[in-house]
Amino acid sequence: LREVCFLLAADGTVLWRELGESPTALPDSRPRWEALWALRFEVAAVVHSHPLGPHAFSDEDVSTMEALDVALGRSLTYAVLSPQGLVWRGLPLPALNWVDELAQASQMHLRSPPQKPDT
Ligand SMILES: [Zn+2]
Repeated sequence: LREVCFLLAADGTVLWRELGESPTALPDSRPRWEALWALRFEVAAVVHSHPLGPHAFSDEDVSTMEALDVALGRSLTYAVLSPQGLVWRGLPLPALNWVDELAQASQMHLRSPPQKPDT
């Protein structure tokens, strides 16, 4: 198992992938910041996996998301994929075509197919 991070376009296209080495952490990385900056006009969402849970953003996730929004000058959508499904922050993406790939890259097993939120 490992945490994986994707940068997504608004239509769900995976623009960039980062494979972590641990199931419980994906430390800040310079390549991720550089990719985000290079893709800053295309990126719509930053999603990552918690293959062992929790089904929530971590404190570190929250501070990273806030730093990204400040750096880019706009609010992105964020999501965590855990075995229980997706947790969103911001406007959910309409397309979930990237979810299976994220689960596979993380070597995690989804308990049920993720549902689109009702919001
Ligand atoms: Zn996280």
